[in-house]
Amino acid sequence: MIIFGMSSKLVQLAMLNLLCGYCGNPSAHGLRKLVRKFSLFFVPLFPVAPAKYRLQCTFCGAESEISKENAEQLLAQAGGQGPQPGTGAPQQQGGGNPFAGQPQQPGGPYGQNPYQS
Ligand SMILES: [Zn+2]
Repeated sequence: MIIFGMSSKLVQLAMLNLLCGYCGNPSAHGLRKLVRKFSLFFVPLFPVAPAKYRLQCTFCGAESEISKENAEQLLAQAGGQGPQPGTGAPQQQGGGNPFAGQPQQPGGPYGQNPYQS
């Protein structure tokens, strides 16, 4: 009998101090990576899908999925600047913007914007 299936693993990459786009509070966000793997006899063999990155606000619990590029940028920022207690999020612009806590870049948070001239 062959036992196989999918296993998913959630890896916490970093805790980032960001301004939450949902509750508007500058709070710690957990940056997590979700990896799904095909497993045989409960042994994960290989990834079946690209890793997904998620950012979860520890204040309100809102979770948003972000691109790998965004995740890497956030990680690079966290590594370069370190935590900034008291000052809040590195990016403060954009009230009501669900992506206010994330770096603004050409093409928007989802990468290439097809409507951009
Ligand atoms: Zn929040």
